[in-house]
Amino acid sequence: MDQLEMHRQQIVAACRDLVERGYLMATGGNVSLRVPEQNSFAITPSNYDYAKMTPDDVCILDLDLNQLAGQRTPSIESNLHATVYQTRPDVGAVVHTHQVYASALALINAPIPALFDEQARFLGRSVEIIPYAPSGTGFLKKNIARRIKNRHNAYILQNHGVLCFGPDMEQAIHNVEILEKCSLAYLLALCTERKVTKIPLVVREIAFNKLRQDQKKVERREEENR
Ligand SMILES: [Zn+2]
Repeated sequence: MDQLEMHRQQIVAACRDLVERGYLMATGGNVSLRVPEQNSFAITPSNYDYAKMTPDDVCILDLDLNQLAGQRTPSIESNLHATVYQTRPDVGAVVHTHQVYASALALINAPIPALFDEQARFLGRSVEIIPYAPSGTGFLKKNIARRIKNRHNAYILQNHGVLCFGPDMEQAIHNVEILEKCSLAYLLALCTERKVTKIPLVVREIAFNKLRQDQKKVERREEENR
């Protein structure tokens, strides 16, 4: 089996997994995987039922959004995924969902501070809110490109949903789960109107440093592939 076929199968499997876990609903959200050595990525098609999706429905695009393979129209949010792969050599997989608890924080414009060790280790120092711009526009692309340079692995898109990254699909999905757990805990804590405590700064920095070390290994591999 060639590399592209493997990528297409991984996308379909990831979508099924995310639907089962309740992170993808109806046709909302989209999932992509970098195709190393080809400067391209595999992405879910636009507005298509995840239950019906087969590997043939997955689109292959280069980073300028030229379609290299796949009969279907690619997701209208493809430009957002391309921006991530261009800006972040450490990222191998991108999951964009409209998951409920993180989306609630997207509505009240509440970034998540460092609440848990696991969060800082895998998602970064905090989960920031990327300011609203309509889907598929250059404005959203610009907002995303500016914010993701801080090397975090999860962001909330204001009045929209979330963006999670990982070096591979397994870690990206794991990060979606960590984000949703943190979002729910934070929302519940905010509801009490009591002071929300954070992890100590030094612990946050040690955890984030471990994440950076992991990312640097992937960045070096990406550079060697070019
Ligand atoms: Zn969306």
